[in-house]
Amino acid sequence: MTDQLHKIVIVGGGAGGLGLATRLGKKLGKKKKARITLVDVRKTHFWKPLLHEVAAGSLNAFEDELSYLAQAKWNHFHFLPGRMCGLDRDNKTITLAPINDDNGEEVVPERSLEYDDLVICLGSTANDFNTPGAVDHCLFLDNREEAERVHTTLLNHYLHAQASREKSPELNIAIIGAGATGVELAAELHHAAIELARYGLDAIQPNKVKITVIEG
Ligand SMILES: Cc1cc2nc3c(=O)[nH]c(=O)nc-3n(C[C@H](O)[C@H](O)[C@H](O)COP(=O)(O)OP(=O)(O)OC[C@H]3O[C@@H](n4cnc5c(N)ncnc54)[C@H](O)[C@@H]3O)c2cc1C
Repeated sequence: MTDQLHKIVIVGGGAGGLGLATRLGKKLGKKKKARITLVDVRKTHFWKPLLHEVAAGSLNAFEDELSYLAQAKWNHFHFLPGRMCGLDRDNKTITLAPINDDNGEEVVPERSLEYDDLVICLGSTANDFNTPGAVDHCLFLDNREEAERVHTTLLNHYLHAQASREKSPELNIAIIGAGATGVELAAELHHAAIELARYGLDAIQPNKVKITVIEG
């Protein structure tokens, strides 16, 4: 019975895909007029415009993430975890890569998924314009893991300064791109510098944190 339903597959549960799956679930899924399936490589959604707060340490990402499974259950759509790695338009199927555990052991094999309508909303990532050294030496801010990496790097600088005997250490942070993300990140890091000193990581004084935003 389910197989005869019109199959709408949405790949990418970001700002666009999650909202679409939720609305279609309420409108069509609930009345069994279509089978809505959302596919995402992650198991939880995190609202990207908050990433700078995770990077600065003012927001714990785990407290703000939304489980795709739960959202699907509440809003009458289906969620399938996996990374889309292929598209066969003639046969109207997409391929999902195998899911492996942290040791590289396969948990779920490669699968294919049929669709009648396919919506691809995979988002975008920062463009380094092939600038030599950028990938090797810069931190990026496109997802939760990267935001947490920025935060860990920041904290490590503070821990190192706290443990060393260096007098009046400085911290220089360069942010490339003065769009909303870069500017908000600069403001949040400025705030973090004050808070970190207030909480006892005071080897680097707030006035010794130099934040430079670079914009073309
Ligand atoms: C740090 C930051 C701050 C921002 N601040 C603002 C703001 O203040 N205001 C504003 O309007 N916009 C802001 N943006 C931009 C906004 O987040 C994006 O425009 C929006 O998220 C784009 O939505 P999307 O659905 O196209 O893609 P995304 O939200 O990026 O979602 C893409 C989804 O696709 C999934 N995915 C990717 N590849 C695959 C694959 N192969 N298989 C399965 N799933 C896959 C990802 O896991 C992700 O869940 C910000 C962006 C960033 C990075």
